[in-house]
Amino acid sequence: MTRPNVVLILTDDHAAHAIGAYGSVVNTTPRIDEIAEAGALVENCFATNSLCSPSRASILTGTYSHINGVTTLVTPIDASQPSFVSQLKDAGYRTAIVGKWHMGDGDGHNPQGFDYWDVLIEQGEYVDPTFLTAGGLRTEKGYATDLITDLALRWLESLQGDEPWCVLIWHKAPHRPWQPAERHADLYREPIAVPRTWEDDYSTRTSSARRGAMRIAEHLNAEDLKAEPPAGLSYEDEALWKYQRYMEDYLRCVEAVDENVGRVTDWLRARGELDDTLVMYASDQGFFLGDHGWFDKRFMYEESIRMPLVMSYPRQISAGIRHKGIVTNVDFARTILDAAGVKASARMQGRTFLPDLRGTTAASDTPDGFYYRYWEHDDVFHRAPAHYGYRTAHHKLIYFYNDGLGLPGTGTFTYPGEWELYDLDADPDELLNVASDPAYADVFAAMRLALRAAQSEVGDEPHPSEPPLGTLR
Ligand code: CA
Repeated sequence: MTRPNVVLILTDDHAAHAIGAYGSVVNTTPRIDEIAEAGALVENCFATNSLCSPSRASILTGTYSHINGVTTLVTPIDASQPSFVSQLKDAGYRTAIVGKWHMGDGDGHNPQGFDYWDVLIEQGEYVDPTFLTAGGLRTEKGYATDLITDLALRWLESLQGDEPWCVLIWHKAPHRPWQPAERHADLYREPIAVPRTWEDDYSTRTSSARRGAMRIAEHLNAEDLKAEPPAGLSYEDEALWKYQRYMEDYLRCVEAVDENVGRVTDWLRARGELDDTLVMYASDQGFFLGDHGWFDKRFMYEESIRMPLVMSYPRQISAGIRHKGIVTNVDFARTILDAAGVKASARMQGRTFLPDLRGTTAASDTPDGFYYRYWEHDDVFHRAPAHYGYRTAHHKLIYFYNDGLGLPGTGTFTYPGEWELYDLDADPDELLNVASDPAYADVFAAMRLALRAAQSEVGDEPHPSEPPLGTLR
């Protein structure tokens, strides 16, 4: 078997609904779409913990947050644990990562398993960023998204010999504070339509969900917006002004990403390597683009957890596939190793979805749903509460367990745990929490059982505040 080269381009906070192939109504992304046209678009790829560092750690190690230890932004990775990259390297691949690492730095946390690594420090900078390598720190002049691609191509061009290679091109964009390249400063001047859930008043959500401090109208700051709103606007008009400023810069950052994705595929095509390369484009999670009035992610709601994932590998994946089955970030490692013909570490969780894309998976072997857990409780900026849950193709159950941490200035007090249940067929926008609706009593009970089973299967445990099964709904 020919061993494919592997390119995993990962962006930070790029929502699927800002990609043309996923039906974006706010922008176009021809170069990302091209990968989907040449291969597969995965419609239901989800982050199992919708946050930057944890998702990166799950992708790399093929494990859930409680296994790899990167549960939050402040729990650095033990980089010695097996990853799909370290396994490819052991199997003879040349390996590299350029760009955003963001799983800690220093002894034990810097990248391991790579022949070459050249990464930003923590979030890194959009302009003239500082890079860290085994040889130390240096600053490069230019725009991060362009520079990261330059470094990746430079490494690829330096390779001699025929052994396959794997490169991770992990961009900082389009993460907050959404700083575009100068050449894109004038794009998206026309008014951008607000999403249909813009005016969600959260009336049926739990008090836990309503605590999130991620509202465009209230929680974007002057650094995010790069300007003060004009004086004299009503609350509603000021919110719309902020939405427009936010989206302009977000989409401009995506523009540079799309161009740079094209540079990589052009490079592969020019060298005749495209057919022998597994090219994947994904983001570490989704993002709220004004959906429900929010920016950011964290919550187990659709726009936050849905990761874009398009991938081409003409030798094994037919063109134009749209895959509807459930896939998660934990599955990436086993899938990439499967494509490379390298045995996955027994420690890796998840499953390879390559057979799904080839149409060789039996229906009984496809997952019914997936387990989610957001661990970073009540951080000082976003105030999103910790929660876990289970999502199937039809329903989503969420338990906000609340750790009893206090809100600023209010001292410490405990919120009781709270449930949310959504009927995704009847209510795809998740506007109606039916957890206490008697008509959904059976669904609620079945979803609690499924949640408990999924949690146990991945080796996690219920929060002590969760009432025993069968006692509360
Ligand atoms: Ca992210």
